[in-house]
Amino acid sequence: MTVRWAAATDVGRARERNEDAYYGGRRLFAVADGLGGHKAGEVASKMAVEAIAALDGDPGADVAAALPETIREANRAVYAHALRDPSTRGMGTTLTALAIDGDVARLAHVGDSRCYLIRDGEITMLSRDHTLVAQMIEEGSITPAQAEVHPQRSVLTRALGAEPAVDVDTLDVPLHAGDRLLLCSDGLTSAVVEDDLDRLASDPDPTEACRMLVDEANARGGPDNITVVIVDVLDGAPAPAEAAPAREPAAELRRRRFAALRLRLRRRPPARAVVWATAVAVVLAASYTGLRIWSDRSWYVGVDGSRIAIYRGLPTDFVVSLHRIHEQTGLTVDDVAPYFRDRLADGIRARSLSDARRIVAEQIPRAVPDIAVPPTPTPSVTGSPR
Ligand code: MN
Repeated sequence: MTVRWAAATDVGRARERNEDAYYGGRRLFAVADGLGGHKAGEVASKMAVEAIAALDGDPGADVAAALPETIREANRAVYAHALRDPSTRGMGTTLTALAIDGDVARLAHVGDSRCYLIRDGEITMLSRDHTLVAQMIEEGSITPAQAEVHPQRSVLTRALGAEPAVDVDTLDVPLHAGDRLLLCSDGLTSAVVEDDLDRLASDPDPTEACRMLVDEANARGGPDNITVVIVDVLDGAPAPAEAAPAREPAAELRRRRFAALRLRLRRRPPARAVVWATAVAVVLAASYTGLRIWSDRSWYVGVDGSRIAIYRGLPTDFVVSLHRIHEQTGLTVDDVAPYFRDRLADGIRARSLSDARRIVAEQIPRAVPDIAVPPTPTPSVTGSPR
């Protein structure tokens, strides 16, 4: 099989920096979505794709066979880097990588960047998100629709660099001429619904298809960095007529149980980017004490697990936590209209405590009782997301 590929990456409309990275080469392709404060996310995602590039650059390597170990090695390298360099402590990255090996593609992945196969106009998700909400869907405790508005939908259960060792999911997919493989970071899939992906990715020119996907994610608010890699399978040995459809391996992948996971990484929700930038500016200009005084004079309404609370402080963390719960409101996330939960998760700033109470009383739209979703189950993982 020969392939052609194209890629696009964009900071989006809400973030200050682009912490995504990608690689495309002769036999290997990858998308990585870094997480961690300051520039740490960028460091982690760059390290991950550089490991993939190095493997592709080795002419003697069996890239498909070597891919999982290369990713485990990259995990160790990112983890060790974060231990050495305090400025990158807590960094991590997703990594979704494809090796094209004859007429088979090997997918290897960690995190919630995704790989889709588009074949004969049908799109199939080949990867499985390593997120808390994906785990809860598998356990049957929430529905996919509830997952989309769940306050903890950004919590990863697996990431590269977060622990000394990482499990890498792999999947081999027999390729057909005409197949299109799409790798993307969650900046695409959090903005564009899956039903729209194959239509948007349908342009025969992969460069144009990448551009359309990124433009659409930005048109829908661009809440996060957006990265897309498209790999088109052009020709090669005819695939067996009854080659296993891609659904089967994906289903098999889904059947595998999640290991007990201690890891909980929470990405900063997009709208916090502005608050972060502000916090950084202040810390440069003033002392920690100044920052404390400022945060003590700030109020916001936010989400505490599943409950709505009034916080004193800023809806962000800067080295130390800059907020604490002042009072509970008696409301839970389920009481709030689903479309508004996103905003609430980012925190709604108030001028004063009484302003915050007024916001709770007057400005938070309530869920319509008829279509109220069942109570959000408490995640089975221990610890608090904050
Ligand atoms: Mn992302």
